[in-house]
Amino acid sequence: MAKKSAKKKSAAKKPKAKSKAISIHPMIDKGVFAKASKKFAGGTLTCKCSVDPVIVSIGAQTAHNHACGCTKCWKPAGASFSVVAVVGRDHVKVTANEGKLKIVDPSATIQRHACTACGTHMYGRIEKTSHGFHGLDFVHTELSKDKGWSPPEFAAFASSAIEGGVDPANMAAIRSRLKKVGLAPYDCLSPPLMDYLATHAAKASGVLK
Ligand SMILES: [Zn+2]
Ligand SMILES: [Zn+2]
Repeated sequence: MAKKSAKKKSAAKKPKAKSKAISIHPMIDKGVFAKASKKFAGGTLTCKCSVDPVIVSIGAQTAHNHACGCTKCWKPAGASFSVVAVVGRDHVKVTANEGKLKIVDPSATIQRHACTACGTHMYGRIEKTSHGFHGLDFVHTELSKDKGWSPPEFAAFASSAIEGGVDPANMAAIRSRLKKVGLAPYDCLSPPLMDYLATHAAKASGVLK
């Protein structure tokens, strides 16, 4: 009787689906955002340098804090999204080691002032007076030890994360994670910020008085 040949078990393991979660941003991976303090009136941002750090004083609460998937915003190591908020430019003052700052790309709409030693962006400023966001600076409040900053509210430019190296196949998981932690993902900006820009443009063209 012919012995039934047992099928040899393949030694090669089936490649497992990548279960390692993609890091969106440490704050979003953790999924908990500290609440804004009602009477919070600002604090200080410090770059990552252990010696002579750049310090920026922010004299007001921030607004429109959000996760951003664009390739230009500063993000912590390993993150695929930044977390960035806006604040009136008059409230932003560099108080230490300003000489270490350099504009990353002077031709960009947002002039991101970065520390030349550690690479952290300390503030982004729009100098073009005709821009809808002129007067607002972009800041990363995770650079602050102060508690009470406004938490992220939505996610902007989600699809741009692909340009930053995220596998398009991971976008569904990223969008679902963002929604789960309460950050509606948009592929441009949030409706209130798009309305803000459109209102500015309508006033500039004379459509709106
Ligand atoms: Zn630095
Ligand atoms: Zn961005």
